[in-house]
Amino acid sequence: MARSLIVALAAAWLAWACPVPAATPGVTKPSLELRLLRPGVWIHTSYYTFPDGSIVPANGMVVRDGGGLLLVDTAWGEQLTVDLLDRIQREIKLPVRRAIVTHAHGDRLAGADVLRRRGVPVYALPQTISRAMAVGLAIPSDSLSGLRKTGDAEWLGAVEVLFPGPGHAPDNLMVWVPSARVLFGGCAVKSAASTSLGNLADADTKAWPEAIRRAMERYPTAEFIIPGRGAEGGKSLLTHTLELLGAPQ
Ligand SMILES: [Zn+2]
Repeated sequence: MARSLIVALAAAWLAWACPVPAATPGVTKPSLELRLLRPGVWIHTSYYTFPDGSIVPANGMVVRDGGGLLLVDTAWGEQLTVDLLDRIQREIKLPVRRAIVTHAHGDRLAGADVLRRRGVPVYALPQTISRAMAVGLAIPSDSLSGLRKTGDAEWLGAVEVLFPGPGHAPDNLMVWVPSARVLFGGCAVKSAASTSLGNLADADTKAWPEAIRRAMERYPTAEFIIPGRGAEGGKSLLTHTLELLGAPQ
């Protein structure tokens, strides 16, 4: 019997004898998700496991940008970023040509070196690059030099990148996709289910409400808001974030 046939028969027997256990709903979670939100806009979500076993999700975005794609935030880890790029290639079938990271925390830029090794430029605020260097995180390759002060915005292909001012982090950016009326608020925006402001280690809670109001004023036609964690929603996510900040709306 040919060796390949023996291998195939053995594999078939193993599959019958040792079925893969079915996932139990609500108990197991995939480590990575990629789903279409609007034509040309996808949300990627990666799940990071902390040493104490707690699992925390992080949202990023993929946007159709000419003949390629623009990635907003890497997955939360190098291997997950490799997996994300593989999945994008398999499911969207377009090349990632550039990336933006929306502040210097691991859930935003942990995979920046993976992108650099593949020749994909990773854009960030100059402040994000210096903060990443200071704390030993992966370093974005390219500076968004047009964003110098609070309220500055710069076009990068199909999207507008806004520095709304400090909030969750001193360098948090938002990304506007006008063709789909989608605003990626990142960690400066909380999901409807959020009952707290989350990690405040680098936050500026005094300036944060102004950052949210700036986004509201600049993007009145936004229909979909993507927060850093949790489900996307409408503009009510912006007012919900103001509520959590105890700020007038
Ligand atoms: Zn953060």
